[in-house]
Amino acid sequence: MRVLVIEDETDMARYLCDGLRLAEYEVFHCNDAASGLFQAQHSKWDVMIVDRMLPDEQDGLQIIRALRNNQNKTPVLVLSALASLDERVKGLREGGDDYLTKPFAFPELLARLEALTRRSTTSVAETSRSIKIADLSIDLSTRRVERAGQVINLQPREFRLLEYLARNQNQVVTRTMLLESVWDFHFDPGTNVIDVQISRLRTKIDKGYSPPLLHTVRGAGYKFGIDG
Ligand code: CA
Repeated sequence: MRVLVIEDETDMARYLCDGLRLAEYEVFHCNDAASGLFQAQHSKWDVMIVDRMLPDEQDGLQIIRALRNNQNKTPVLVLSALASLDERVKGLREGGDDYLTKPFAFPELLARLEALTRRSTTSVAETSRSIKIADLSIDLSTRRVERAGQVINLQPREFRLLEYLARNQNQVVTRTMLLESVWDFHFDPGTNVIDVQISRLRTKIDKGYSPPLLHTVRGAGYKFGIDG
C-alpha cells in the first residue's frame, strides 16, 4: 500500500511516517501544498493523508478539490486540528473521504486508512479508461487517440493537454489551470507556450473534422466539447 502524506509540522510528519512504515505502508512525505499536489497527480497512491493548514496559507482542501476536478479519485483522509463540525463537514464536502482530528490515536488512523483502501479497491475497475466526445476517442490506458476512426499521433505533452481538456469538457479551462495541470508551473512564465501547444493540438484533432471540439473562449481560456 502506497500512502502520500502531506503535512508541514515536522514532528507530526515524523510520527505519521514512522508509524505508517511500521504498519508496512510505503510512505512518501511532502511538506507543502505545491509539492503535495504534484506528487498526488504524478504518481499512483492507494491513499493520501492531507493536513489542512499548510504553509503559505494553503488549505489542504484545495489539493483535494484540484484532484477531484481532475477526476482523481484517490481516497483522502483529512487530518486536521480544525475540529468543529462545520470544518469536518466542509472537509468531506470538498472531496475528502474521511476526516480525523488531531490529536488522534494511531490505531484509529490505521483502521480508517484500511477502511478507505478497502472501499477504493472495489471501485477501481469501474473507473472509465476511455473518453469519447463526438467521433473523438481517447484511450487513457494505451494513450491511443482516434478521430472518425483515424489514429492521431500526439506528443506526450499534447496528450496531457488533450486529456485534461477532455476530462473537463464543456467547462472553461483557464491558462492558469493548464499551466498547473499540464505544465506543472505554479506561476505564469509569460510565454506563449500554451497558445503554441493549443494551436498544434487543434490542427491535429480538429482540422478536416467536424464539429470543431477545441474552442477559444476570449479573455477566459479554452473549452473542449461539441458546443463552443
Ligand atoms: Ca499544519
